[in-house]
Amino acid sequence: MTEQPRLAYVGLGSNLDDPEHQVRRALAELDALPLTRCEAGSPLYRSTPMGPQDQPPFINAVARLATHLSPLALLDQLQALEQRHRRVRRRHWGPRTLDLDLLLYGDCRGRWPRLTLPHPGITERNFVLVPLADIAPDTCIGDAAVSHLADAIDRDGLQRLVPQQ
Ligand code: ADP
Ligand code: MG
Repeated sequence: MTEQPRLAYVGLGSNLDDPEHQVRRALAELDALPLTRCEAGSPLYRSTPMGPQDQPPFINAVARLATHLSPLALLDQLQALEQRHRRVRRRHWGPRTLDLDLLLYGDCRGRWPRLTLPHPGITERNFVLVPLADIAPDTCIGDAAVSHLADAIDRDGLQRLVPQQ
């Protein structure tokens, strides 16, 4: 294959069935997707849930992929991976074993029926911006560097996990 791979960033979240394990396993599984390598994974964070508060805290991370898949083919793979983690959609912003959001795909911008790029939640969510800044500080969203956006966001409810030995 001659074409250069594209860099894509994926946000991971879980708050059911041993969330830390779900996220660590998913990071390894992203590396095993077809035509795709996982180049970097951020540290893991614990965050308070958005929306309904009567659910456990989330574990979040961000991964950098180098991929030859198109944006929609990558989204298909991410949704298939969510299904393999037995994700059940019970209610909006409710608990889930694994949520995978395609945050950025190169400098691709646009809105399709199943996909919006960049992911519209990035700049308002500390559990996305802070781990993204760990592995992509100089990447820009609009005119702003991720590191500047992360420095400016409220870190209420967000806690970096101590790395496992
Ligand atoms: P959320 O992550 O906001 O809690 P879901 O994971 O249930 O919501 O995703 C809802 C829908 O969002 C999916 O059906 C998917 O097609 C759509 N979607 C649009 N843009 C994106 C994106 N950038 N990454 C992931 N899903 C997206
Ligand atoms: Mg999602």
